[in-house]
Parts: sequence; C-alpha cells; structure tokens
Amino acid sequence: MFTKILLATDGSPDAERALAYARDLAIQDKALVFVVSTFPPVPGQLGNPWYDRWIVSNMSKSEKVAKEAAEKLRKAGAEAVVEVLEGPPADAILRVADSQKCDLIIMGTRGHGALVSLLLGSVSHRVLSQARVPVLVLKNGQAKIH
Ligand code: ATP
Ligand code: MG
Repeated sequence: MFTKILLATDGSPDAERALAYARDLAIQDKALVFVVSTFPPVPGQLGNPWYDRWIVSNMSKSEKVAKEAAEKLRKAGAEAVVEVLEGPPADAILRVADSQKCDLIIMGTRGHGALVSLLLGSVSHRVLSQARVPVLVLKNGQAKIH
C-alpha cells in the first residue's frame, strides 16, 4: 500500500517506536524509507570558526541519529535513505515529504523536549496540522521495539 515512507527521528524513545513501525510497514509493503533528522538553524555565516564548529557538531549529531536508524532498517531488510537537513524540523519534514512524494509520515508523539505535560510536541503538532499525507504518530507503549 505504501511506497515511500518518511520516518522523522530525533533519536528519542517515541521516535524509536516510530522506527519499529516504519521498519515493519516498509518490509511488508516493500517501501523505501526516507530517514529525516534535522539540526537547528543558527544565524551566522560559513567561514566564521565558531559558526562552522557549531554547524559541524550539530550536523554530525543529527547524522549519527539518522544513520543509526537507517542501519537498523537495513539490517531488518528494509531499504533506507538518509536525509540530514538544517532547519526547523517540521518544515524540513514537510519539505522532504513533498519533494520525495512520500505517501506516509511516521514520527513520535514527543521528542527530547522537556515539557512532559504536553501531549504533542511542537514538531509533531505542526506536521499533523500541515501534512498532505497521512501521519502515523507513536507514543510510549504503542509499538514493540523488537
Ligand atoms: P518540543 O520540541 O516542542 O519541545 P518534543 O521534543 O517533546 O517537544 P517534538 O520535537 O515535537 O516533541 O517531537 C515529536 C517527534 O518529532 C519526534 O518523536 C520525532 O519523530 C520528530 N522530531 C522531533 N525533532 C526532530 C528532528 N530534529 N529531526 C527529525 N525529527 C524530529
Ligand atoms: Mg523536540
């Protein structure tokens, strides 16, 4: 049923649950998974040593999260592509979903944010409000990790 699935991950426990669903659906439907992880934008200019260090450090954190997720998917037999992008996460997720013509977005309810009382984080809230394709949102206890 699905051909291209976007998995948004910040490496949080809810995103790991999302990964488990993306993995099982991708294997079942022989779908390609786009693993999206973003790092926050910062005003500044390339060439400024402080800025360069900041960008490189954040980019490599996101890259690690995305690559580890893609590796788990591939080990399970799913095809995965890594997309590490700068920007507010929801914008980047929606942009990739459009440009790659994904037919499903899978993500966690919450991420690493600190406000435990909120049901949805700001990223899942924005993606749910603006996505043009179905969004599967996982929270604690909603999927087996293994
Ligand atoms: P907030 O960020 O608003 O403080 P939060 O961190 O608890 O709240 P979200 O950031 O909305 O919640 O996270 C919900 C889901 O969105 C995560 O489980 C993950 O799937 C996705 N997500 C969050 N941040 C990123 C990111 N930087 N890159 C890719 N996906 C992300
Ligand atoms: Mg967050």
